[in-house]
Amino acid sequence: MAKPVITVVGSINMDLVTIASRFPSQGETILGEEFHLIPGGKGANQAVAAARLGADVHMIGAVGKDAFGTELLRSLEREGVHIDNVKPVTDKGTGIASITISEQDNRIIVVPGANHALRPEDIDRCEEMIAKSDVCVLQLEIPLSVVERAAFLAKKHGVRVILNPAPAQPLPQKLIEQVDFLTPNEHERDIIFEQVDADAFADKVIVTEGARGVTIRKDGKQMLIPGFRVPVVDTTGAGDTFNGALAVALSKGMSLEEACLFANAAAALSVTKLGAQGGMPMKEEVERFLK
Ligand code: ATP
Repeated sequence: MAKPVITVVGSINMDLVTIASRFPSQGETILGEEFHLIPGGKGANQAVAAARLGADVHMIGAVGKDAFGTELLRSLEREGVHIDNVKPVTDKGTGIASITISEQDNRIIVVPGANHALRPEDIDRCEEMIAKSDVCVLQLEIPLSVVERAAFLAKKHGVRVILNPAPAQPLPQKLIEQVDFLTPNEHERDIIFEQVDADAFADKVIVTEGARGVTIRKDGKQMLIPGFRVPVVDTTGAGDTFNGALAVALSKGMSLEEACLFANAAAALSVTKLGAQGGMPMKEEVERFLK
């Protein structure tokens, strides 16, 4: 059977992770315990999740012409993700997330950099690629105008669109009309429908609810597709794994219920290991888990 073809339009970041026993107070300098550079960004994470699950994945995004950009492209290539449509940007650095983890709390600053230099015209140049895809996957870490253009072009060519609306912002009705599935968590669901009647689009919404699983609407009724009980090590990237896996499952022709079950399984496996991309399972692992 041919591999599913998935286009992901989204962010590519380097996560700068510092682990310290506590946060410094104002004006104070303290010593931290560990520092790690970890590939991230919701777009890249979802692309890697889909590639590990056996899809032919094409990434559309932007990185700076700097060391982080080079490393992130290499890392995507190692995962088998096609990077020909990742734009090199000269006047902005590669996107980063500065993450400090202490025993009490996590604090995160994201600098979008090159991710925000992506333009609708960059998506136009990839129209042929989008048209050849089974599914197009989007998130909100790039300009909304770019997300809108990608959804428009996918719709024009009859390609199914999954929009993971994170980080959440109120969405225009036109965009919601053009996507086939929205995958907010409960908090994001309330924000994205601030300006739009949520009831009118309830059939498109897959609400992720952590360990509980996901809720969809079927035949006018809410239906829980339960999550899997697993030993939890790190839940970072569970949502990204879910979205990548959902795209693969839908591309293979599974029904929405079957696809959510498969994606719940992949996401559950991802929380049993450390790191966002670090924990993402291979196709065979999910198949074994579901037997
Ligand atoms: P994040 O932003 O942390 O990646 P999210 O808020 O977007 O996550 P969640 O609803 O927390 O998304 O998780 C997405 C999916 O991952 C869930 O619907 C479920 O399938 C799976 N999942 C998350 N946490 C767990 C867990 N503790 N045990 C099993 N499955 C989980």
